[in-house]
Amino acid sequence: MPDTELTMLETAHAYFNESCDLLEINEGMRQVLLNPWRELSVAVPVRMDNGAIQVFNGFRVQHNGVRGPYKGGVRYAPAADSDHTRALAMLMTWKTALVDIPFGGAKGGVQVRPADLSTAELNRLTRRYTGAISHIIGPNRDIPAPDMGTNAQTMAWMMDAYGQANGYAPGAVTGKPIELGGSYGREAATGRGVCDVAALAAADMGLEMEGATVAIQGFGNVGSFAALRMAEIGVKVVAISDATCATHSPAGLDIDKVLEHSAREGSLKGCPWGERINNDELLELDVDVLVPAAIEGVINTRNAPGIKAKLIIEAANSPITYGADLILKERGITVIPDILANAGGVIVSYFEWAQNIQRFRWREERVNLELLTLISQGYWRTTDMAKERGITHREAAYAVAVNAVATAIELRGFI
Ligand code: GLU
Repeated sequence: MPDTELTMLETAHAYFNESCDLLEINEGMRQVLLNPWRELSVAVPVRMDNGAIQVFNGFRVQHNGVRGPYKGGVRYAPAADSDHTRALAMLMTWKTALVDIPFGGAKGGVQVRPADLSTAELNRLTRRYTGAISHIIGPNRDIPAPDMGTNAQTMAWMMDAYGQANGYAPGAVTGKPIELGGSYGREAATGRGVCDVAALAAADMGLEMEGATVAIQGFGNVGSFAALRMAEIGVKVVAISDATCATHSPAGLDIDKVLEHSAREGSLKGCPWGERINNDELLELDVDVLVPAAIEGVINTRNAPGIKAKLIIEAANSPITYGADLILKERGITVIPDILANAGGVIVSYFEWAQNIQRFRWREERVNLELLTLISQGYWRTTDMAKERGITHREAAYAVAVNAVATAIELRGFI
């Protein structure tokens, strides 16, 4: 096996280049599609509770805006450097294009471990970061949302900081609390979309979802709502984990109880159900469906040969390394790629933005139904292309998305 463990940015570039080869896209267009259209790097000074000043590195990368305002989350994590943010911004461009919502792709990042900061410090950090990028965001320019390390509260602070300078503009940020113009169903949307896509892929493979077994790695916003929704439709969630604990119960876990525990304790640590395993063992369990919903690169060349699931749903962004993807392809394991599998979040962000602009609120049933419609269409676009060309779901999803963005550039005629 050659050394194929690429970085996240190299991985995103590799998939992009392969789709350009498939689509026979010329060199000039490749450069337009590859390079971020605008990048901002900012210093974020924060007065800490003890009076000291600490400066954090912040970024906002606007990868491509041909199909609409830039769109994408803000990640608070020590790993959120410029290349990391670039890779995630590019994924957003393909994600919005694949599910055909009128946005481009962007991502923000601040290099910080949010657990190390108090709520007041996080509030000050968020306001300072928002102020530093406020001239390039806005409801018609670039619309941030939550990602790893950020949540509805972070978005409320961002909305407030943006609004102080620009007037009331709830559509400047999505993933807000319901009380401030957030959408019903937004918090659960990514996990719900993961489940919708898993059901579609399982049906195509002749796998019955009711009674099927699933292992979910990650119990944050995405993993917890995916688990809850899966349990609701009769899937047996036999293993779950977070950074502190992984547990396995062949009979299936009671997700409501597990959720209650993690809400009360702040993590899965001490969870009394199932048998303790480690995160690596979870990935190699003999289950029908595997859902990596935590961080990037967890399925790699080391563990890919041992994976037993028939279907992998990439709920996190880039959870499978480039080298592992080749191994899984060779082994005939179906992988539903991140740009489709976790698009539920940005789809409902789109609904939130549309509701904000129209000053009109949708009921939750409508949100969930429209989510199912858009994510299913993305799935069918992908599988049609995969069948037509005899390629994987990832190759097909990239081909559909890259083609849509390239076509928009040609039509606009600005180059
Ligand atoms: N952070 C999420 C993602 O990676 C959601 C982005 C959004 O809603 O704009 O897709």
